Amino acid sequence: MSQSSASETTAGPCPHMRSCRLFPILSASNALDYWVGVYCKGEFTKCARHDRLTRGLTVAPNLLPNGKKI
Ligand code: SF4
Repeated sequence: MSQSSASETTAGPCPHMRSCRLFPILSASNALDYWVGVYCKGEFTKCARHDRLTRGLTVAPNLLPNGKKI
């Protein structure tokens, strides 16, 4: 069989990377790379910021992807 199809996953670049104020901060630091890998370039649908942005809600600057605040 030579036919292949893309597997369906939610992983991939988050569509809010350009508008998310946290993303530039996360991506600028190696120490914060964890968040980028897990959420921004991973399961972004689980990100609390993504959820609020998608629903048109305000997003606190200190809201982390896991829903906690720093
Ligand atoms: S922090 Fe969340 S909303 Fe922002 S770019 Fe990463 S996954 Fe998207």
